[in-house]
Amino acid sequence: MANRSRGEFLANMSHEIRTPMSAILGHADILNDHLKDPDNLLVVETIRRNGNFLLAIINDILDLSKIDAGKMDLQMQSVRPDTIVGDIRSLMDVRAAEKDLPLKVEFAGPIPETIRTDAIRLRQILLNLLGNAIKFTNDGEVRLHIRYDERSKLLNFDVIDTGVGISPDKLDTLFEPFTQVDSTSTRSYGGTGLGLTICRRLSHALGGQIDVSSQPGKGSRFTLCLKVNASGKLVQPNLNSLPAVEKPQPEIQLSTSVLVVDDRRDIRYLAQHFIEKAGSTVYTATNGQEAIDFIESPDSPPVDLIVMDMQMPVMDGYEATTELRRRKCKLPIIALTANAMKSDREECLAAGCTDYTTKPLDQQKLIQMIARLTT
Ligand code: ADP
Repeated sequence: MANRSRGEFLANMSHEIRTPMSAILGHADILNDHLKDPDNLLVVETIRRNGNFLLAIINDILDLSKIDAGKMDLQMQSVRPDTIVGDIRSLMDVRAAEKDLPLKVEFAGPIPETIRTDAIRLRQILLNLLGNAIKFTNDGEVRLHIRYDERSKLLNFDVIDTGVGISPDKLDTLFEPFTQVDSTSTRSYGGTGLGLTICRRLSHALGGQIDVSSQPGKGSRFTLCLKVNASGKLVQPNLNSLPAVEKPQPEIQLSTSVLVVDDRRDIRYLAQHFIEKAGSTVYTATNGQEAIDFIESPDSPPVDLIVMDMQMPVMDGYEATTELRRRKCKLPIIALTANAMKSDREECLAAGCTDYTTKPLDQQKLIQMIARLTT
């Protein structure tokens, strides 16, 4: 019970922090657009980089507390492991190249064509292990070795590096929260010490486990072992036909009219800035009642979509959306909340929202969503 209430406390605290962080990062973006002087741009870039780092820590804490509070929702689906590996390789290639390290991906033999698992969580574990391997290796190479044993139905992902290694007495505590092998490494390598804790707990949730063996000065091997219930056929993955690096998305231009409803001036300003930059007209309201009045008034200009904050004084987004739907309003409504849990998404959709996004506002995601819902 203590774990659970600590988890709930941390989950609440984390998303309370996400709202102001959203304003800080978003305004750093705006400032970045306004500035020309290279010295000033460097300062803003430092704010952004550290802000993003802080956000990564908060997301880690939120993840961990969700697991502790028993609120981690897994989306088990039939997925192709070779596609996941291809994705991961294209993401990590860049990082390895920055350090001039070869990143090798090898399949020891055929693997199941599809397995039932949560692809996002599996990717998260592998990205974390590979990220560490690259971080803690200066010379040599990093390898991802995949092997499947048909008899035991175990699918193993070995992440092998030739890096600094870990001394035997530290191996036991490696998976404890906030543990880093030594404080000097913290300073030169950064990180929160939460990654492996999350990986291990996620691997358990997926019905697997993570083991480690390591030799100081020689390198480490982290093995994720998943029990898969693969009944379909086996395939020999072809590395060359694995999916290529994602292409950068072209900038989307909108020509719509959007009502942004949020009680916080900062967030209204930010959303307005993003949407106007993409070419749309923006009107604003500061609570649900104002939004309803705007939509119902014959004097208001027509709008194509509503971006609705869910937590507001006077009338919140849930009540306003329910009421708008009751009055036969058919406009797409995007819910905006600081809560990153799956149950919140369902609550928003149940109130009548068309889609859902979380703070901190992600400019590209918001614009893509508006484009999708208005064309
Ligand atoms: P973080 O990397 O954020 O500090 P992790 O939980 O991912 O947190 O890792 C905890 C610690 O384990 C790291 O700080 C590092 O000391 C050690 N570690 C993890 N992976 C490796 C590796 N591949 N090689 C050497 N040390 C590692």
